[in-house]
Amino acid sequence: MSVLRIRYLGEPVLRARAEPVAEITDEIRRLAQDMVDTMLDEPGLGLAAPQVGESLRMVVVRIVSENQDEEDTEEEKPTVAVLVNPEVIESSEETITRREGCLSLPTLWGEVTRPKSVAVRAVDLMGRPMEMHGEGLMARVLLHEIDHLDGTVFLDKANPDTLVWLVPDEDQEEGYREDPTTVEEVTARFEHIARRRRAKEAEL
Ligand code: ZN
Repeated sequence: MSVLRIRYLGEPVLRARAEPVAEITDEIRRLAQDMVDTMLDEPGLGLAAPQVGESLRMVVVRIVSENQDEEDTEEEKPTVAVLVNPEVIESSEETITRREGCLSLPTLWGEVTRPKSVAVRAVDLMGRPMEMHGEGLMARVLLHEIDHLDGTVFLDKANPDTLVWLVPDEDQEEGYREDPTTVEEVTARFEHIARRRRAKEAEL
């Protein structure tokens, strides 16, 4: 099991358009397994290859039920799917607005409006064509991850009036408080973190 380093906003790979996977090699299968390990370790509901520094069109997702709560995902043996070169082939006109977060923008949350249901075409790790239909939370996870392949993060689509940092706070009943923020502040904070990370890596 390998847990890979998650790239944060501010690192160029998250803003690049990822390349299609040309051939499913052992290296691609290993990357997929490492991405699954990383997603489950965090834990997250999905992960796209650019989030671990690979500019490739591949995503891994947890299979979640339509009305599942994001907090309610601590299953013993989660079911996962790997989608190579995924493409959205259908999405509903009906939308749902819900709070969303991302491993590449830790502690930030904001409301994003997305289609209620979606159909995605991809190939699996054996190179076989597959189709996946998602409703509710599953549709949201698929669309969020596929957005990453085009350099888009949820911050670009979130209603700016709903952006908050979830800050641990023992004085609050929930154990955290919500600090409202702005796109500019979020961008500046992650660019600062990315600069610090680069400086640290240069030292090593
Ligand atoms: Zn994300």
